[in-house]
Amino acid sequence: MTHLPMSARCAMMLLTCVPLLADEKTEPVVVSPAATKIHQTAILFDGHNDLPWELRSQGLSSLNTIDLRQLQPKMHTDLPRLREGGLNAQFWSVYVPADTMDTGDALLQTLQQVELVHALIKAYPDALAIADTADEVEQIVSTGRIASMMGVEGGHCIENEISNLSRLYNLGCRYMTLTHSRSLGWADSATDEASAGGLSEFGEEVVREMNRLGMLVDLSHVSPATMKHALRITKAPVIFSHSSVRAICDHPRNVPDDVLPLVRENGGVIMVNFFSAFIVPTAQLELNPDARGSIHDVVDHIDYLAKKMGVEHVGIGSDYDGVPRLPTQLESVATYPRITELLLQRGYSEQELHSILGGNVLRALRQAEQVAANLQQQ
Ligand SMILES: [Zn+2]
Repeated sequence: MTHLPMSARCAMMLLTCVPLLADEKTEPVVVSPAATKIHQTAILFDGHNDLPWELRSQGLSSLNTIDLRQLQPKMHTDLPRLREGGLNAQFWSVYVPADTMDTGDALLQTLQQVELVHALIKAYPDALAIADTADEVEQIVSTGRIASMMGVEGGHCIENEISNLSRLYNLGCRYMTLTHSRSLGWADSATDEASAGGLSEFGEEVVREMNRLGMLVDLSHVSPATMKHALRITKAPVIFSHSSVRAICDHPRNVPDDVLPLVRENGGVIMVNFFSAFIVPTAQLELNPDARGSIHDVVDHIDYLAKKMGVEHVGIGSDYDGVPRLPTQLESVATYPRITELLLQRGYSEQELHSILGGNVLRALRQAEQVAANLQQQ
């Protein structure tokens, strides 16, 4: 800890120069009519929600014994609160644990999760619809439903077989996180020993095939060397579907500063994760590893990225129903409008807010589709 004058500290941290007092952080965020209007006219497109895994782990995959039209207080997500939160589009995670590498059923379990998402959409057709393209996202949103795409969380799911990428793409998967918590032979995880040292030759082939298909390359969970290697190889914008800022919270799951200019150059989007362990500032977590933090901490991450890279490279990747601890005032999918309110208070314009809430990831997706169309013509 250094003791710099406040102005120097602010300049270093690129944060607002009027730190909130503790009781200001606990004051309820009141969403103003102006923020409500901006939020309602935006397309809010969240990069990562683990509802499918939450349902599976609770033994609810048949959907016979749960009604998502009712409030589900034990979960972060249900249809009434999605409506209250103004969510318009979602990458539903079809996560299965990295340990399925050992049991040999990673793809099978992933396909079961894909089926579960399709069953959800079938069960609630007035609330959810599958979207194949960025245009379809916009079209579905205009009908008042939640445009649904899927994200595969971890390259272990393709079981070292390139053709499984198109199999998953054809079922509605529009991104794949290259690794989850364990390194693969072809890409390294941020939370495991390196084995590929970035990407292996096969790892490069995976990225090229994803580009050819129009499947977004997701660099959450991977090591910085793998982030940089993938950014060198990819011809389309990448996303970080659920990662936050390492300079604020020094966790290996977060994105280090030296990667930010590469993401900007690539046209990619970092979608900020709400998990307390990824957002509470390092010094506070050292004092209390169970600190929850508040919505203001999450907004600090968004603000930091917007100032470092430009607003067009920032998004929202909540990780709802995938994390055990959330900041105060961000307890469920009902709370997104509070983020819009706080960013409006920090001086972001309507247009900038629309970019952050979903315009940016839609742009990245559209560019990836264009790259794919070009590659498929060759
Ligand atoms: Zn994750």
